[in-house]
Amino acid sequence: MHSFESHIRSVPDFPKPGIVFKDITPLLQDRFPEVIKAMCHGIDWTKVDYVVGIESRGFILGAAMAQLQGKGFIPMRKKGKLPPPVIAETYALEYGTDTLEMIQEEKNGRVVLVDDVLATGGTLRAAAALCAKNKLEVTAMSLLINLTFLNKFKEEGFPVVSVLDY
Ligand code: AMP
Repeated sequence: MHSFESHIRSVPDFPKPGIVFKDITPLLQDRFPEVIKAMCHGIDWTKVDYVVGIESRGFILGAAMAQLQGKGFIPMRKKGKLPPPVIAETYALEYGTDTLEMIQEEKNGRVVLVDDVLATGGTLRAAAALCAKNKLEVTAMSLLINLTFLNKFKEEGFPVVSVLDY
C-alpha cells in the first residue's frame, strides 16, 4: 500500500452509524502535489479534452488535475446549484434519491471523471450516465480511494484508475 495511507483518517460511524468515513483532509494538507500527480498516472491524456469533477471533493482534486495536464474543467453539481440549461441524472440512495446536474454540453468531448472515494458506485454510475446523456465520452474514472469491497467496477470493465485500494 502507498505511503499516502498513513495520512488518511478512518472515522467510524460518520456521517451515519456503520459507515467508516475516509477523511482525506490530512493527506491534502501534507501531500497535495504528489496526490494530484498520482491521480493523473495511468491515464492517456492525449485522449482527454476535459476533467469533470464531482461536487465537492472532486472539485478540489479534479481542478488541480486539469491544471497539471493543461485541460479544461467541468463541474458536476448537486441539484439546483447550476443555472439553466442543465441536464440531470437521479439515482437511488439507501434512503431516497439524489440528483447530479451539469450544464448542457454541445462539444462532444472526451473526459476524465474525478471523485475522492468510490464506495458502492452509485454516484459514479450516475455521473457516467449523465456524461453519456451530455455527449461526453468517459475515457477514465480517477479516484483517490476505491473501496473495492463495496463495488465490482474493475471487474465490470469500467475504466477505473485509483491510487489507494481497500
Ligand atoms: P458511492 O455512491 O456509494 O460510491 O459513494 C461515493 C460518494 O460518497 C463519494 O462522493 C464520496 O465522497 C462519498 N463516500 C462514500 N463512502 C465514503 C467513505 N467511506 N468515506 C468518505 N467518503 C465516502
